[in-house]
Amino acid sequence: MKIDFRKAKSIITKSNIPSIDYVINPYTGCQHGCIYCYAEFMIRFTNHKGDKWGQFLDIKTFDINKIKPEKYNGKNILLSSVTDPYLPLEKKYQNTRRILEKLVDTKATVSVLTKSKLVVRDIDLFKKFENIRVGISISTLDEDFARIIERAASKPLERLEAIKLISKAGIETYTFISPYFPEITNYKDIIEKAEGYSNRFSFENLNFRPHNVPRIMNTIKEHFPHLLNTYKEIQKDRGYWDILEDEITNYCEDKKLNYKIQFHHGGFSKS
Ligand code: SF4
Repeated sequence: MKIDFRKAKSIITKSNIPSIDYVINPYTGCQHGCIYCYAEFMIRFTNHKGDKWGQFLDIKTFDINKIKPEKYNGKNILLSSVTDPYLPLEKKYQNTRRILEKLVDTKATVSVLTKSKLVVRDIDLFKKFENIRVGISISTLDEDFARIIERAASKPLERLEAIKLISKAGIETYTFISPYFPEITNYKDIIEKAEGYSNRFSFENLNFRPHNVPRIMNTIKEHFPHLLNTYKEIQKDRGYWDILEDEITNYCEDKKLNYKIQFHHGGFSKS
């Protein structure tokens, strides 16, 4: 892992993600190195040409006193969008924790999203926020498959245990079933495990991008060869997502869950 330090002009930046006003990415790069990651485009924008996603990390340096909590009142802030706020090196550098400490008095709605059990470290801080929700993203409960697709993230059950603890501390939680791997992700199993302590569920399709398609297809070819043709078809035709969306909608409605389905990423839009 190549580690560097880079000065960030601003640590809280405007977002073009729908319904998110600002994003906080305490690091550039991501130690988790997920095979499907959509954030790999950051290599181009951050002078990392030639580096491999998952093998470099810039620790952002910034002026903590420039963070003005009141500036974000009424806004939606996401922590994080192109890295994970609770990477293994967060234990050492604590960028995420320092930012949260400074933001405590904001009246923004803060959404924290991670694949790491380290998130429980900050329960004391989450309790101080007026409006915060803490979520995990998860694709599978199968540890072996998770290790293949998200080699350095916490195990799926550890992530679920983390939001269980956070929920027990009285903090709003959510489970982001993402990315959804067709014919592999078992959303019902995940919901059954999490429904006692997750206030909301959301779903996102596997997002085929030119840079991740070879890695996804090679993984499917090696570990699920019988699904390779299905994946090739799904890559071209969004019909699969429409059918799945209807199925998940019925399931969530029956269970009276609070849910949101976002099967429109990567050029797909509901027909
Ligand atoms: S944790 Fe998120 S940002 Fe990091 S590699 Fe995985 S998908 Fe990308």
